[in-house]
Amino acid sequence: MASPTPRRFGASLIQWIDSDFSLESPEAIRAQPDGVNLVRCIPFIILHLGCLGVIWVNWSWFALWTAVALYFIRMFFVTGFFHRYFCHKTYHTSRFGQFLLAACTGTTVQRGPLWWAYHHRHHHQHSDTDEDAHSPHIHGFWWSHIGWITSRRNFPTDYSKVKDLAQYPELVWLNRFDIVVPVVFATALFGLGVYLQSAFPHLGTNGPQLLIWGFFISTTVLFHGTASINSFTHIWGSRRFQTDDDSRNNFLLSLITLGEGWHNNHHRYQSATRNGFYWWEIDPTYYGLKLLSWTGFIRNLKPVPQSIYDEAALLNRQNRLPQIQPLSLGSDRMAIENRKSKSVIS
Ligand SMILES: [Zn+2]
Ligand SMILES: [Zn+2]
Repeated sequence: MASPTPRRFGASLIQWIDSDFSLESPEAIRAQPDGVNLVRCIPFIILHLGCLGVIWVNWSWFALWTAVALYFIRMFFVTGFFHRYFCHKTYHTSRFGQFLLAACTGTTVQRGPLWWAYHHRHHHQHSDTDEDAHSPHIHGFWWSHIGWITSRRNFPTDYSKVKDLAQYPELVWLNRFDIVVPVVFATALFGLGVYLQSAFPHLGTNGPQLLIWGFFISTTVLFHGTASINSFTHIWGSRRFQTDDDSRNNFLLSLITLGEGWHNNHHRYQSATRNGFYWWEIDPTYYGLKLLSWTGFIRNLKPVPQSIYDEAALLNRQNRLPQIQPLSLGSDRMAIENRKSKSVIS
């Protein structure tokens, strides 16, 4: 754990508001070994402890369903916007459109769009190696699930690795002051609860109850649903493609994460808008993005190339015929494709 000198303590407090404030250069911080920055993590701890507020506010069907709805709506924001747009640019939208995508996803309290994109692209480039910030094989399950985001060296955003996004000051602002949207969102939920209590008392809800269920509980569960992709999908599931990491496809996790469970597919080919490559691989995020594309708000959704389907079919046939020599992927076209898919946008 980093030594809690008064200067570092004060800097961590400022970073609650201004994520880019730092006493050292981001490069110097990232060069340090992992170590939990407890002070910096206090808002994250409060998010979890806030769930205990249910003891005092009780529950109502309205509050419960609000929490469930906000989980799935915001999971769509995380997977459809942060992941499939900001990390991988699997479709296009306008400049104002991408600002809206970033602002909406800010309600998920998963830091800023550039922080998210930088760390995720880094994960793809260094999957399951010592460089990977959240590999369960290198650091263990709990570090890959939750520990890595508490580490001092993983707080800065390396803007030089997300230049395509950093050219937009409005995105950099949302990234730097990533606490603003969550505060507005939580306040709005409280206000809605107050209004409903007076206008529709039969719903049985109120401001504090909607704040606890709609913000604290829903957001905490949403965090762990998202984090399951970093932890479970590199240890639990099947492998269709021979990627040079340990990514897996997992049906159950695809339900929880609206399609991100097809993680082995995604590691094989990151540029496609869909992670479920076949109709039976449920990918609600893709369905939602497809619907959105019909409005014209987003466009040019990228398909899975035929060469990837050919490779999957070949590997499937090979798995059914164990007596055949394993494919030598190091010297053929598939290996070239494989290397290409590792070079994400930077
Ligand atoms: Zn992965
Ligand atoms: Zn990805």
